Amino acid sequence: MDHDALAPATTVVALGRQERVPGAGVNAPLELTSTYVADGAVNYARAGNPTWSAFEEVLGALEGGQALLFASGLAACDAALSLVPVGGVVVAPANAYNGVVVTLTERAAAGEIAVRWVDLTDLDAVREALDGATLLWVETPTNPLLEVADVPGLVGLARAVGALTVCDSTFATPLLQQPLSDGVDVVVHSATKYLSGHSDVVLGATVTADTDAGRALRERLHRHRTLRGAIPGPMEAWLAVRGIRTLALRFERACANAAELASRLDAHPAVARVRYPGSGAIVSIETGSADSAEALAGRTRLWLHATSLGGVESSLERRRRQPGEPETTPVDLVRLSVGIEDVEDLWRDLDEALTGASG
Ligand SMILES: *Cc1c(COP(=O)(O)O)cnc(C)c1O
Repeated sequence: MDHDALAPATTVVALGRQERVPGAGVNAPLELTSTYVADGAVNYARAGNPTWSAFEEVLGALEGGQALLFASGLAACDAALSLVPVGGVVVAPANAYNGVVVTLTERAAAGEIAVRWVDLTDLDAVREALDGATLLWVETPTNPLLEVADVPGLVGLARAVGALTVCDSTFATPLLQQPLSDGVDVVVHSATKYLSGHSDVVLGATVTADTDAGRALRERLHRHRTLRGAIPGPMEAWLAVRGIRTLALRFERACANAAELASRLDAHPAVARVRYPGSGAIVSIETGSADSAEALAGRTRLWLHATSLGGVESSLERRRRQPGEPETTPVDLVRLSVGIEDVEDLWRDLDEALTGASG
C-alpha cells in the first residue's frame, strides 16, 4: 500500500512498526543500547536508535516530511535556531512560547544574533522587519493568546529575502495543519503535548521536507542533535510511539470538547473574554483580574491546576505566574487545556469554579 495515500487516523496506527516477518513482535521494540554491532547503518546510539526511528516514521508521514526526535520541544527549537549563523537576524513574534522568547533574548544579549520582535498577524510589519533577516520564527496558533498566522503569506515574505521559515506547530498538531505544504522549511513540535498525549514524557521533534533542500536541513539538524548530545531516551520514545497511536481519537474528542466549552464560556457572566481560534483543544479565557484567575485555578476539582497542556486530562493555569511569560499575556488570562473527559463533567466543574471565583 502507498503510505502517502493513508489518512492520518490510519498513519498513526499503521506506521512505525516492525517488518512483518513470521514471529516478529507487532510493536517497535524498546531498544536499550548504547552501541551497535559494527558495520551497520548506525554505529553509536547518540546518532540513532530504532525506537526514535519508529516515532520519526509516524510523525514524518503525518507532516509529509522527515522527522527527527529531540530530548524536548525546546531542544528541537534550539536545533532549528542553530541554523542561524553568528551575526544572523531572527524575526520572531513577541508573544511566542516563553522558552523561545527567553532563548532569543539571551542569545541577542550575548551578541550572538539580533532579534526583531514582530506581531505575526501584521504582514506589513513582518515584511519590514525581514529586511536582511536570516530566519523567520512562526508559531501558530500562539501559546497562550491563540493568534493565528497566515503561514503561506509569511513564507512568501521570508522567501522574498532568502530567509528560512520555522513554524512551531505544537498547538495545531499535524491533524490541523501541515506547514511544510505551505513552504515552511522546518516544523517544530513539543511532542510532550498532544503527540505523546499522556503527560508522561518530555520530547520534541523537527520535520523537514523530503526534497534536496529539506534533506540538507535535516542533515544539519541531525548533526546538531548528535554533536550537542542532548538526545531522547529510548523509553521516552517508546512511550511517545504508544501515545501517538491514539492521537487522532484523542485530538478529535478534545477538539469537540473545546468547541462546546468555548461557546458556553462565551455566555458565562464571570468570563470577560474567550480566545478560541475555532479549532484545536486550547481555550484561553480572561476573568477580569489576576486574583479571580488565580482563584479559578485553585477551585476546580476535576480540572488539574498545572502548567503544560495536551494530555488526556483537562488542566488549567494562569500563564503570568510563569517566570519569563511575555507581558503581552494579560494578567487575568487562564489557559485551558481541554482533555478527553465527558464534556458535561468538565463544564459543571468549570462553571462552579468560575462562579465561586468571581463571587
Ligand atoms: C511546551 C511548548 C514548547 C516547549 O516544549 P518542551 O517539550 O516543554 O521543551 C515549545 N513550543 C510550544 C508552543 C509549547 O507549547
